[in-house]
Amino acid sequence: MKETLIRLLSSSLKSASISAVITGIAYFTYIPLLPVFAITFLGQFVLSYLYNSYLELQAAKIIKEQRLKELDILARVTFNIPCAACKVVNEVVVNPQIDNQFTCPHCDAKNAVYLSAEAALITEPIKVDNI
Ligand SMILES: [Zn+2]
Repeated sequence: MKETLIRLLSSSLKSASISAVITGIAYFTYIPLLPVFAITFLGQFVLSYLYNSYLELQAAKIIKEQRLKELDILARVTFNIPCAACKVVNEVVVNPQIDNQFTCPHCDAKNAVYLSAEAALITEPIKVDNI
């Protein structure tokens, strides 16, 4: 809270300083000074708000792209799969969301990867003390 207030006062002083410089330039013209100061002072807040909104939008876009890349990496799993033709085991990166194929480096055969799920029964180990 205190830090926010200090930051607000600091930016207000900077904006007032810039507005004072621009108003000082306008002093040598016939333009009324108070409206020049008010417009430049408020205009800086509007511009900084628009600029910060643009930066937040860009940051959100970058974060979204990074999360999509991370999800893509997490979705990929490496399996040791034997070639359907020569039975040599190949290390293949598999993404379950797409059709996966690989070419065997040993025999140049094109292979398709089919995924299947299998269940295993979870059992409790027998305690030796109870026997
Ligand atoms: Zn092969």
